[in-house]
Amino acid sequence: MNELRWDPSLEKWVIVASRCQKRPLLPTYCPFCPGAKEIPRRFDVMTLPNKFPSLSPKETAPKHRSMGLYRKAAAKGICEVIVYCPQHQKSLAKQPLKQIVKLIDLWKKRYKILGRKKFIKYVFIFENKGKEIGITLTHPHGQIYAFPFIPPIIQTELDAGKRYKKKHKRCLFCSILKRELKDKRIVYCNDNFVAFVPFYASWPYEVHLYSRRHFGSLSDLTDNEKLALAEALKVMIQKYNRLFGFELPYTMVLHQTPTDEKNYSHYHFHIEFYPLHRAKDKLKYRAGVETGAGVFINPCSPEEKAEELRNLR
Ligand code: ZN
Ligand code: ZN
Ligand code: FE
Repeated sequence: MNELRWDPSLEKWVIVASRCQKRPLLPTYCPFCPGAKEIPRRFDVMTLPNKFPSLSPKETAPKHRSMGLYRKAAAKGICEVIVYCPQHQKSLAKQPLKQIVKLIDLWKKRYKILGRKKFIKYVFIFENKGKEIGITLTHPHGQIYAFPFIPPIIQTELDAGKRYKKKHKRCLFCSILKRELKDKRIVYCNDNFVAFVPFYASWPYEVHLYSRRHFGSLSDLTDNEKLALAEALKVMIQKYNRLFGFELPYTMVLHQTPTDEKNYSHYHFHIEFYPLHRAKDKLKYRAGVETGAGVFINPCSPEEKAEELRNLR
């Protein structure tokens, strides 16, 4: 049974995906390598349906949708996997820029195609990397969750952006970028993108990557910006890998406008990286205060971490 259940106390949806429990143990071969079952012998980048999806387009509305206090809804959506390259060992940091450009093109295409579907309100593109994050498949890949609702973190950013714009007549995220450039927590920048450890970072090596130009989604990306984004992604991941001398596990998320056809001209495209490490042999855990109170304790100074990442080449 997969369904959405509404948490009336935190006012957000939870996906109950008990079917995913049946997920088998990993096969001994890599299911994403060229020539593996259902994988073509030749490809550049590729999208595949997620074999054990939490959300599915076939899901129909559950019976007894409203049960007094409680409410549920169909876990209707689309979960896909994106295989970044045919090479098993070659993470994004080692790929030529043109390969990363192909990945960005595929992100853009899936954002448009999935976003066009009536039951999809938000196309969430992300990558979980490394066994500390729970990823045992090492072949470079990411995922897409196309949601039937706008996820709460994005909704919070949208609301904050809307209020800020109403009050100050400009984009909140353009203002953050301007401030970060002034405050010097910059890790890397090129003509079109700026990576920084935000003033308010929750995680030690958290980095946000903002486009300099104001636009809402990958659909608005120019060819120059696409190349600049590929370069920024490559440099960031290289820096992360050089930090402790191993491929740093992280979660990477794309924040773009929802696809429910409302006006989100106040939103601003960006990417966020969340590595778990606080030191070479130490992880930062989401413990009591983070999980139970929703308050993050960042054990490191964002200014110092920005400098550390900036100086890595
Ligand atoms: Zn592989
Ligand atoms: Zn902006
Ligand atoms: Fe964001």
